[in-house]
Amino acid sequence: MEISAGGVVVKDAVHILLARREEHWQLPKGLVEEGEKIEETAIREVKEETGINARIIKPLGKINYWYYREGKRIYKTVYFFLMEAISGDIKEHDSEMDEVRWFEMDEALEKIAYRNEKDILEKVKKELRSDLIWGNWSS
Ligand code: ATP
Repeated sequence: MEISAGGVVVKDAVHILLARREEHWQLPKGLVEEGEKIEETAIREVKEETGINARIIKPLGKINYWYYREGKRIYKTVYFFLMEAISGDIKEHDSEMDEVRWFEMDEALEKIAYRNEKDILEKVKKELRSDLIWGNWSS
């Protein structure tokens, strides 16, 4: 059983941050380290994987999946947070990621590889133009 955390990072109230590993576009996420709060993990993983500093706005719920590593079946839970980009540059992304890009919501929904992460994005889409006040950070 593994626990990870990650984010739906929004910029200018319209752009969504996705990272590609081989052919799979996904939300930035990674394992919770010892002594770390899941919120801290989400911020750290977003920064490490994508080069973007972001702040948490609110929790978006969790997903669960099974995967195989070295012939073992592993159960994973990932907690996602709605986050807002503050600073940073996607050029500084982790070499573990083949590509990092900002997408408009509808294109992100088309690209994203995993159904469970798509469901999280759909939830955000419904709220993008709602009561949240987004910052104006740009670059
Ligand atoms: P590890 O835990 O071995 O370091 P990792 O850090 O890449 O792997 P994941 O991103 O969870 O962890 O990837 C593990 C496996 O799960 C990969 O085969 C990946 O394709 C798959 N995977 C990643 N995200 C999802 C998801 N949302 N739903 C289902 N499978 C996923």
